[in-house]
Amino acid sequence: MKLTVEATDGAARTGRLETAHGVVHTPAFMPVGTAATVKAMTPEAVAATGAEIVLGNTYHLMLRPGAERIERLGGLRTFMNWRGPILTDSGGFQVMSLAKLRGVTDDGVTFRSHLDGSAHTLTPERAVAFQHAFGSTITMVLDECVRLPTERATLERSLDLTHAWAERCKRAYVARPGHGLFGIVQGGTEDDLRARSAASLTAIGFDGYALGGLAVGEPQATMFRVLDATVPLLPADRPRYLMGVGKPSDIVGAVLRGIDMFDCVLPTRSGRTGQAFTHAGTLNLRNARHADDAGPLDPGCACPACAGYSRAYLHHLVKAGEILGAQLLTWHNLHHYQVVMAGLRTAIRERRTAAYAAAVATEDATTEEPTTPS
Ligand SMILES: [Zn+2]
Repeated sequence: MKLTVEATDGAARTGRLETAHGVVHTPAFMPVGTAATVKAMTPEAVAATGAEIVLGNTYHLMLRPGAERIERLGGLRTFMNWRGPILTDSGGFQVMSLAKLRGVTDDGVTFRSHLDGSAHTLTPERAVAFQHAFGSTITMVLDECVRLPTERATLERSLDLTHAWAERCKRAYVARPGHGLFGIVQGGTEDDLRARSAASLTAIGFDGYALGGLAVGEPQATMFRVLDATVPLLPADRPRYLMGVGKPSDIVGAVLRGIDMFDCVLPTRSGRTGQAFTHAGTLNLRNARHADDAGPLDPGCACPACAGYSRAYLHHLVKAGEILGAQLLTWHNLHHYQVVMAGLRTAIRERRTAAYAAAVATEDATTEEPTTPS
């Protein structure tokens, strides 16, 4: 795959990532399609929001319906009817956060499924083989995700393991035109460990570089400091992906620091719990103040939820637990995120990224608490 940087503004950059399955305009936000579906959205609806690439979770898919079945059925893109490129994670993060009885050795991770308790092993070679079976456009290396905060010695040991696994993933990976394997820079919030990780991974050589282990509870300023220290150490001609991030204000701040790709469950998960990201901040549709409001969710939004429905109706759907409420709010949130990304791409070309980022961060600072439930 090939990244062409078309314009820069400070460290921020915009361009095109050409893949075997289509072009991704960067900076890009990838909706999360954990179990081969972006929850509550058809693939056609996901594409209509402007999303060009979606993410799938190897941990979930290897357990159900299984990598071999997906391969037999034509790969993940065919299986879920998504025509564009797809990125899959390695499964490491979910093994840490969801699975039971986790044991880590030099060889890999052993765990029990959160679904039925069955025993599984994930090694670097297996993580790559699963993603090959899925036909993933972008494959992620298996890394160890340690819980922060932790002692520096633990972090250093974990980093050595992560780098050894990255090398094994590179050896196991079958290169194909328009596909790529991304390494994952770890090192917690220690700038020197991040630098060591970046050096080890660039020495191995990957098609793109992700930053993992951020947005796990540390202050936003700490995450930005790590990006300031780490992003300049990554090759300029390869995409940079900040994993699991984030709120709109996190994304615009990271783009200012040179990040190209993002994924996060926030817009989809929030949509299913009655929260909407708007130009007036984050709204909670459960609140009684929306019950008689005939106006749209966000007057500045062109999505189907804002074009055709009132806040009063959305409030009613959310209160009644209707599926349509989750669908419309998810659609709106994904649309809003894509509008932010398109705004960033334009702002970078027009060299006003800092002002645009500040405006988005101001919008994002307002959050409606569930103070008046009805
Ligand atoms: Zn909308």
